Amino acid sequence: MVGEAQALMPVEQALDALLKQAEATPITDVERVSIDNAQGRVLAESLIATLDLPPWPNSAMDGYAVRSADLDGQPLRVSQKIFAGAQPKPLEPGCCARIFTGAPMPEGADAVEMQENVEVLDDGRVRFGELIRPAQHVRPQGGEARAGDEALAAGVRLGPIELGLAASLGAAQLSVTRKIRVALLSTGDELVDPGEALRPGQIYNSNRVLLRNWLHRLGCEVIDAGVVRDDLIQVRQCLAGLADVDLILSTGGVSVGEADFLGQVLREEGELTLWKLAIKPGKPLTCGSYRGVAVIGLPGNPASTLVTFGLLARPYLLRRMGATEIAPLSFQVPAGFSWGKPGKRREYLRARLESGRAVLYPNQSSSILRSAAWADGLVEVREHSQLNEGDLVSFISFAELLG
Ligand code: AMP
Ligand code: MG
Repeated sequence: MVGEAQALMPVEQALDALLKQAEATPITDVERVSIDNAQGRVLAESLIATLDLPPWPNSAMDGYAVRSADLDGQPLRVSQKIFAGAQPKPLEPGCCARIFTGAPMPEGADAVEMQENVEVLDDGRVRFGELIRPAQHVRPQGGEARAGDEALAAGVRLGPIELGLAASLGAAQLSVTRKIRVALLSTGDELVDPGEALRPGQIYNSNRVLLRNWLHRLGCEVIDAGVVRDDLIQVRQCLAGLADVDLILSTGGVSVGEADFLGQVLREEGELTLWKLAIKPGKPLTCGSYRGVAVIGLPGNPASTLVTFGLLARPYLLRRMGATEIAPLSFQVPAGFSWGKPGKRREYLRARLESGRAVLYPNQSSSILRSAAWADGLVEVREHSQLNEGDLVSFISFAELLG
C-alpha cells in the first residue's frame, strides 16, 4: 500500500491524460449553422475574408473631406454632402465635401478634418486652420482585413465578438463541429429535484442544474439521464438506455467507502480508472468508458463538482469539440489572506476580488455552493505552499471558466 502523498495524481497529469483521450476521439462531423445560432460552437474551417474590410475608404469623423494638397489657407466651397450609405461623386477641384462618420470618401479626397477644427464662414465656405496630413481621419480600404485573409482560424470558439466579426465580413453561416452530446446523470439515493417535497434524509439535486446550464453555455447538447439511485441494476439500466452519446458525465458515488455501482458497471462493460487527484475540493474522479463511450465521473459535493468540471471536464470537452484555446485565462492577484497550512493537494478556493485583492469566502467546505455564488472565481494555492497576505496568487474568474 503506497502512502497517500505518493498516490495522489497531480492536476496537470490528469488534465494531460484527459486531453490525450479527447484528441484521440475528436468530434469530426461538421455542420453549417447561421451566425445567429453559432454561439459557443467551435469553428471547424477557418473563415476567409471574401472582401476588403472596410470595402472602401471612409471617414472616421464627422467633418470635411479634402484633397490635402489643395489647402493653401484659402476657404473652400462645400460641393457635396456625404452621409453613411451614400455613393459620393468625385470631389471637385478646389472644393471640400461635408462628410459623416462611416461615409465613403469621394474620389480625389485623401483626408478628413474634424468639424470642430474648421470655421464655417457666412457664405458657407469652410476655412481649415491646422495642417492636414494626407490620410488623416480616413479608414483605408482593407485596413481591418484584406480579401483572402484568415479572419478567424479553425478551432476558434465563437462568442459574440467572433460572430460580430464574421457578420462584418458578410458571413451568414459558419462551419462548426457538431454539438458534443453529453449524457448527464446524478447518482444518489438522497437526491430530489426542486419542485418535489423533501423527505427526511433527502437533499435537492443541485449538480444536475449546475452542469446542465454550464454544458449549454459551452455549446454542448445535454441528454438528461436524470437521477440514478445507488443501485447496481438502476445504474446498469440507465447506462444501457443511453444511445448515441459522446460522453457520459456523472456526479456522485465516487467517495471512498461508498458502494461503487458506476465503477462496477464500467468494469463489466468497459474500462475504469479511478483517480485520486491532488486537488481540493474534488479528490476522487472516475475516468473510463462504457461500451466505447467515454465516461467522466465527478465527485458529488457541489463545490467539488464545480472545480473538477471547470478544470478537467471543461477543457476535455472543448478539446473534443476541436477548440485550440482551452486553458482558462488566469492572472496574478495579491492574496487578501494568509495561508499557513501547506497541503498535499492543490487548493482551489472560492474568492472575491476586493480592491484588487483576493478575499476568501469564510467557509471553503466542498459541500457548499453558496461560496461559489458569492465568489468571483477560484484562487489557486499550490501544493506544499504557504502564503502571506500580499503574496501573488493565480486567480481564474468564473466568467472565464463558465464560458
Ligand atoms: P458522493 O460522491 O455520492 O458520496 O456524494 C458526496 C456528497 O455530495 C454527499 O453529501 C452527497 O449528498 C452530495 N451530492 C451528491 N450528488 C449531489 C447532487 N447531484 N446535488 C447535490 N449534492 C450532491
Ligand atoms: Mg452518493
